[in-house]
Amino acid sequence: MTKVPFVDLQKQYEQVGDELWSVVAEIMSSCMYASGAAVVGFEEAFADYCGTSWSVGVGSGTEALYLALQALDVGPGDEVITVPNTFFATAEAITLIGATPVFIDVDARTYNMDAGLLEAAITERTRAVIPVHLYGQMADMDPILEIAHRRGLKVIEDASQAHGACYGDRTAGSLGDCGCFSFYPSKNLGAAGEAGAVTTDDEGLAARIRRLRDHGQSQKYEHAEVGWNARMDNLQGAVLGVKLPYLPGWNERRVHNADRYDALLADVPGVETPYRAPYGSPVFHLYEISVGPDRDRLLAALQQVGVGCAVHYPIPVHLQAAYRDLGHSEGSFPISEASARELISLPMYPELSAAQAEYVAGRVSELVAAAAAV
Ligand SMILES: *Cc1c(COP(=O)(O)O)cnc(C)c1O
Repeated sequence: MTKVPFVDLQKQYEQVGDELWSVVAEIMSSCMYASGAAVVGFEEAFADYCGTSWSVGVGSGTEALYLALQALDVGPGDEVITVPNTFFATAEAITLIGATPVFIDVDARTYNMDAGLLEAAITERTRAVIPVHLYGQMADMDPILEIAHRRGLKVIEDASQAHGACYGDRTAGSLGDCGCFSFYPSKNLGAAGEAGAVTTDDEGLAARIRRLRDHGQSQKYEHAEVGWNARMDNLQGAVLGVKLPYLPGWNERRVHNADRYDALLADVPGVETPYRAPYGSPVFHLYEISVGPDRDRLLAALQQVGVGCAVHYPIPVHLQAAYRDLGHSEGSFPISEASARELISLPMYPELSAAQAEYVAGRVSELVAAAAAV
């Protein structure tokens, strides 16, 4: 029986359900189901939140990445550098655009792109870099941006887990040429289905992505280039418009819950709580503890006592069957591989209560101690 779920969207619904039903009713009776005023309104508010001039609503985070690459003219024959410790979609978008994903390993403390490995991975075919702000903590962007600018590379932030995270005083999605966001329901800002966005300060880039998401149309039935149907539904724009004002408060609650876990787990031998890089403020999309190579046993034992924990992600992208042709093997990216073996994601959402966090931390301490005693 689950005592503490991994995520609990029901709690969020209790808070915003009435407002959601009211905007859903408006959209239904207006019959404006495809992109419309609610999408435009959300785009303006989200750009504002991220500190960019523009945001363009699309159908998912994966489409955001794909269209960002296309709009930056990345294509067949090109290489794009990213990390293997991410959700599959980051690399998938690179492959679908016809380019080749080139992986570099992650930093052993943040599990995000190790900027020190970037320069050596650049070839004359490299066009872009996609740092991923995984778990809600930003990659170390200044050195990445410095190298990319010096070597003429575009920077696309995969900010799908980092809505509102900061690097100094800059917000995720405002540092690179563009930022890509997912509003999958369980993300820090979630739609009532699939949605995503690209943020940018480049007006031309925003216009190109707006055109590409709508079949490359410059005007109705005039197609300047081949695009795709990647528009955000008006209904999703309306739902996201309702939820966005709550995001700062929700992120604060996540950080508060992370602080609580940190304190409860501080003195548990064999458990490492998340490292927080001094350059930024994370938003804890996920709360990762490192428990060493006996992870799977602990994971199963935690699930047995009702702790809804998970693994993000059990197979690093370079070892996925889909990428066998890239020729990587076990040992190619040791830190990404270790993170796939040794991390557990504990329950994390704004509404997680003190009692729930105490239950989770208590079971972790007991089970780790029991394993050590064997
Ligand atoms: C969720 C996620 C995506 C994909 O977003 P979708 O909206 O599911 O297409 C891409 N990258 C990362 C890091 C993600 O967490």
